[in-house]
Amino acid sequence: MKNTIPQYFHVLAKPTGAICNLDCKYCFFLSKEMLYPGSRFRMADKLLEEYIKQMIDSQETNEVFISWQGGEPTLMGIDFFKRSIELEEKYRKPGMTISHTMQTNGILIDDEWCEFFKKNNYLIGLSIDGTKELHDFYRVDKGGHGSFDKVIRAANLMDKHKVDFNLLTTVHAHNVDYPLEIYRFFRDEMKARFIQFIPIVERDNDTGFQEGNEVTDRSVSAEKWGNFLIKIYDEWVRRDVGEVYVQMFDAALASWYGVDPAMCIFVEKCGKALALEHNGDLYCCDHFVEPKYLLGNILENSMSELVNSEKQIKFGNDKLETLPDYCMKCEVRFACHGECPKNRFINTPDGEPGLNYLCEGYMKFFKHIDYSMKFMVQKLKADQAPSDIVNHYAKLDKEYTQAKRNYPCYCGSGKKFKNCHGSSFL
Ligand code: SF4
Ligand code: SF4
Ligand code: SF4
Repeated sequence: MKNTIPQYFHVLAKPTGAICNLDCKYCFFLSKEMLYPGSRFRMADKLLEEYIKQMIDSQETNEVFISWQGGEPTLMGIDFFKRSIELEEKYRKPGMTISHTMQTNGILIDDEWCEFFKKNNYLIGLSIDGTKELHDFYRVDKGGHGSFDKVIRAANLMDKHKVDFNLLTTVHAHNVDYPLEIYRFFRDEMKARFIQFIPIVERDNDTGFQEGNEVTDRSVSAEKWGNFLIKIYDEWVRRDVGEVYVQMFDAALASWYGVDPAMCIFVEKCGKALALEHNGDLYCCDHFVEPKYLLGNILENSMSELVNSEKQIKFGNDKLETLPDYCMKCEVRFACHGECPKNRFINTPDGEPGLNYLCEGYMKFFKHIDYSMKFMVQKLKADQAPSDIVNHYAKLDKEYTQAKRNYPCYCGSGKKFKNCHGSSFL
């Protein structure tokens, strides 16, 4: 049976295509410029109108997200985004809420941008990779200079104007060994309340596509990625639950609770997170802006048609259908689902292809958080605060650290506490 139009889908629109004012060394998107030789890389007004109209028409829900990404979207200038608001008002249906998000490197953010964001309730994703030294290592401008000071300036301006923003942090070979330095810097010095971590898994090839099974030396290893998450989780669960929101931990809590998390990488199928290029080309996903994954152009075919095309449905279903047996039998599959297909290029221990490169890290992380996730779900189901876990851990840690370090760990693993949940701080 042919699927119907999804009730909801999400599009990341790239009004400047791959064009950016930074030159981050791990950027997977700058090479996409080669897909459009000779282009001016600016979304035309006609396309902007068509995009807004179709986005509003095609959603079956009363909430529509207009999401801008890059390259660097602010390079379009503020008038482009003011025009998009006018067009939303022109096409908005009665009772419809339109939410706006933008992912930016922060370089061009000033008071005028902040006033615009605040007035129109934008949620901003600000990219920052940690403290100055960690950030500036890869996130450099075209002259090779670090961008940290400008990012902090942007964060301060957004604070001043009370703009809602998340920190988006890519985790790579250079910062993966500093989880607590990064987390504490965000929490204590930047006063951040919403944080997202994104692992860098960068394929080493000349095409810039998701091909080959070698990774660059900027990429994280699976083991270090798992340890990075565990270190931050262990601090978060002991003091910050309900105060600081780490997207990956929220996603895990949703999975343990039995509902789909808001992160596409941790749901069973793909297909509802697409990417729109500056000229109207619609691709299966932001991570697959490649000729093979081009669905069509929204000036020629409607977005609903393209989202509902066999090609996109197959792309979505493949996430589940190509999952190796090893994942099918995995005890944490309900939370992992083999993560993003772009990272599935290694073999399972018994030689089956298609295992996620980060598997080892995710397996360790999800097993590690099982005990506390179950506790928080129990609280939620009893209409109590999941943040009760903080006091619960305070008692457990005291008891086990003082008298029961050689006892079997409270999580039920059968290992001694000092070798299990106590190992990171004893
Ligand atoms: S800011 Fe984003 S788009 Fe620009 S170079 Fe860096 S990673 Fe790439
Ligand atoms: S390919 Fe990856 S990023 Fe794209 S929709 Fe699927 S899980 Fe999400
Ligand atoms: S943890 Fe590994 S084996 Fe389990 S579902 Fe994820 S990728 Fe597959």
